[in-house]
Amino acid sequence: MNGHCSTWSSDSERRRQGLAVERPRVCRKWGHGFRHGGTVAVLVIGLWGSGWLMSAPPVSGTGRWVQRTWVVMGTYLTVRILHEDPVYAGRVLDDVIGLVQDLDRRFTLYDPSSELWALNRQAGGPAVPVSEPLWDILEQAIAYSRETKGAFDVTVGPIVQLWGFLEGPRRVPSDEEIAQARTRVGYRKIDRDPSRRMVRLATPGMVLDLGGIAKGYALDRAVERLRQAGLRHGLLNFGGEIYAMGASDGVDRPWTVAVRHPRRPNRAWQTFPVQDMAVSTSGDYERFFVARGRRYSHILSPWTGRPVETDVVSVTVVTPSATEADALSTAFFVMGPEQAQALVGSDRCRYVLWIRQQGDRLVEDPRSVWPPRPCPATTAGVREFGSLAVRQMGGPSVGTTLGVAPQIAYVCLVVSGLIGARIWATTGCFYA
Ligand code: ADP
Ligand code: MG
Repeated sequence: MNGHCSTWSSDSERRRQGLAVERPRVCRKWGHGFRHGGTVAVLVIGLWGSGWLMSAPPVSGTGRWVQRTWVVMGTYLTVRILHEDPVYAGRVLDDVIGLVQDLDRRFTLYDPSSELWALNRQAGGPAVPVSEPLWDILEQAIAYSRETKGAFDVTVGPIVQLWGFLEGPRRVPSDEEIAQARTRVGYRKIDRDPSRRMVRLATPGMVLDLGGIAKGYALDRAVERLRQAGLRHGLLNFGGEIYAMGASDGVDRPWTVAVRHPRRPNRAWQTFPVQDMAVSTSGDYERFFVARGRRYSHILSPWTGRPVETDVVSVTVVTPSATEADALSTAFFVMGPEQAQALVGSDRCRYVLWIRQQGDRLVEDPRSVWPPRPCPATTAGVREFGSLAVRQMGGPSVGTTLGVAPQIAYVCLVVSGLIGARIWATTGCFYA
């Protein structure tokens, strides 16, 4: 299912308006965009320009790697799995994409016939029965809102719209407009009746926006589906949200994931091994506009109604649940390291890497809990996959992979389209 595309004003027009020409004519749905006419070249460049690099293993002795990429939720979803029977693996992948497309149809704000729109339209009116996935994602979203004291809030829709991050035009609204929109924001205005799975949005004009959590949620459901189908090893990348399943050699070698350099799109800031965990980054470079010399990011503070003003340029969260990683990376960007540190730690299997701007230098904040370590199966985050044995990390040194990836990833990617990747890079941001 292709993403919807908004036709933006021309570059010169946008420059006249004082807006940065960021990604003219971009298709977007969930916070990332892709260009029309997705040729292999565009895809490869797009992949390279993204947040993550991963090294994929040689073909394992016990199976074959099967990889597919789809355009869904306005970004790329790439799934690479290991199985002895490629035909079976292909069927499982068809099933996974069907599942994700179904979630997209329910959760999107870009299609007025989506289930989320139907709920939003009833804001201020009666309670509405919702489907199991919409109920489930809302439950989780509200739990993260509570935990982050509202830094993450799915009711940010009115202010996302006001600043033009949903469909444009991007602009700096007046204080009155912000104050007005904020009266329609607040997760406590969502009333739920679990016995009948009904939801009521208490204030007219409320708009739920799942953009900060939907990709992570879809990833968890996809991983769940793969496990149900008996698959144990794979790598999933959904517009920069990563889930590293099992081992990269189908035995015990962890996947290597790289945090993108926030200011140099083709460089890795750092790589780290990861196994049976999700990785999510929220950064000020993903979507933003510049007006009157100031940079406004697409992550908004529900507390102020404005884009977050911070010296944090990127926050990466690693934890066993992709939903959690997605929601918390957004929340932590709003909260900053001081407030967020109470919510992270190896004891709860939540790892975080903060990169901050200090003058013209980028530095890692000492409050980072990093690098991620394997988690005991009893920690909260792993509960979701309770039956899963979390394997020990080991494998090759990180340095070896880092030495190779930044320099030759581009070449490897070009080759990957032809013969199957040794290095597999991903996705999501397709900036000019
Ligand atoms: P990306 O989608 O670029 O990976 P995020 O996961 O951080 O980035 O999600 C950003 C999106 O989340 C925004 O485009 C908007 O739809 C929504 N959003 C913005 N601010 C918040 C917030 N404070 N809480 C919840 N969702 C938010
Ligand atoms: Mg997020």
